[in-house]
Amino acid sequence: MNNDTICALATANGVGALGIIRVSGNDALPVVQKSFPGKNLAKQKSHTIHYGYFMDGEEVIDEVMVSIFLAPKSFTTENSVEIAFHGSPHIGKRILETLIKNGARMAKAGEFTLRAFINGRIDLSQAEAIADVIASENEASRKVAISQLKGGITNEISLLRTDLLNFVSLIELELDFAEEDVEFADRTALTQLLNKIEIKLNSLIESFQYGNAIKNGTAVAIIGKPNAGKSTLLNALLKEERAIVSNIAGTTRDTIEEILHIKGHAFRLIDTAGLRETVDEIEAIGVKKAKEKVENANILVYLADAGTEYFSEDIEMIKSLLRDDLKLIICATKIDEVSPAQYGKMEDVFRNQIFHEFDFIKISAIENQNIEDLKNELSSYIEQLKASENNVVITNQRHFEALQKSLNAVHKVNEAITFRISTELLAYELRNALEYLGEISGEVTNDEVLGNIFSKFCIGK
Ligand code: GDP
Repeated sequence: MNNDTICALATANGVGALGIIRVSGNDALPVVQKSFPGKNLAKQKSHTIHYGYFMDGEEVIDEVMVSIFLAPKSFTTENSVEIAFHGSPHIGKRILETLIKNGARMAKAGEFTLRAFINGRIDLSQAEAIADVIASENEASRKVAISQLKGGITNEISLLRTDLLNFVSLIELELDFAEEDVEFADRTALTQLLNKIEIKLNSLIESFQYGNAIKNGTAVAIIGKPNAGKSTLLNALLKEERAIVSNIAGTTRDTIEEILHIKGHAFRLIDTAGLRETVDEIEAIGVKKAKEKVENANILVYLADAGTEYFSEDIEMIKSLLRDDLKLIICATKIDEVSPAQYGKMEDVFRNQIFHEFDFIKISAIENQNIEDLKNELSSYIEQLKASENNVVITNQRHFEALQKSLNAVHKVNEAITFRISTELLAYELRNALEYLGEISGEVTNDEVLGNIFSKFCIGK
């Protein structure tokens, strides 16, 4: 196995009180020793910290603390050293240059975690969870990433695999005795097991919708005629979140998505750029543009001014935007200006013409009336997804795909039994199902998949 010595900055690249450089590999100790003459590192115990100067030849680079983690009790399971220095990016660069002169090389993206995986310290889904933990931006995504890091999904999967493996060996035994026409594997028991696995796989697959909402946020489009009160509502919603404005790169025009956090979940307000402009600059939003916005949304919040008399255009617009999987919330806006009787009538007009399920919320963004109700309604979207939730939630597209492929294979095994198809074919489909399940934890994998996963990590992790 390749365990040459690698090094990288583990902390963020910028000024901080401290910075940490990580070194791992066979020669981690001698490489650092060359620049840390104050103490004989080879004589120190694992998990100890040592104070001294980090030197480049005769020159003191910085005053540092060196932590030692001896194999196999380190993150990578190799000998590892962490050097904590005063957090100047320049000092970090000098230390790295010196370590490379001493015989280390720069680590590639995710290489420390890759080593932890290859050396069997963590499985693949746990390695992926590390990237998710680092990327987590809210409570929900942190929790689900930590549960995956603790081995949540692997445990579920390996239980299924062990049961299946038993049958695979029995079926293969039958193949060995093919001429004698015996059945070692009880087909009824196998069918029962397959049904159990199918239920489990289905529920894991279903949890992906919730997992995806946790990981990527729920997309919300706010639509309505000019002057309906969209930008005022946006300001009311984002009152406490003004700082969180993200530019999502990679789109042809500058789409601005603002993130709203409700009860620890992220809601992405899609393309709110236009809403910030002054009223006269706003052109009537065309159906085409509205469709584009709603296409990627999970929730449509449609605003209509309660002070208006006719809603036929609004109703038409809503009808043209609806999809089965879209949650619709209709808001009567500016209710501080009209009587309850008036917005009561308004609700009837909508209820009589729109047959998709929707919530009708009467708000005044200026007087901050019922904005909480709207937030609760947004939040209920997540609660509903959660209702079908498993203990383990799938957040990773790769796992989702592997689970679907496993389910497919399980269906085929079931078919093979029902139609009494040859034992060879049955064995083949069973092996497929096992293999797809194994892909999740990395028991079955290939270099391309690994390269893909680890290249997305940051260097130093
Ligand atoms: P947009 O074009 O949909 O973004 O609408 P704006 O948010 O710019 O609002 C249009 C006008 O309606 C502005 O003059 C707002 O001050 C006013 N407005 C918005 N929300 C309310 C509200 O809740 N109550 C009242 N009285 N006026 C509102």
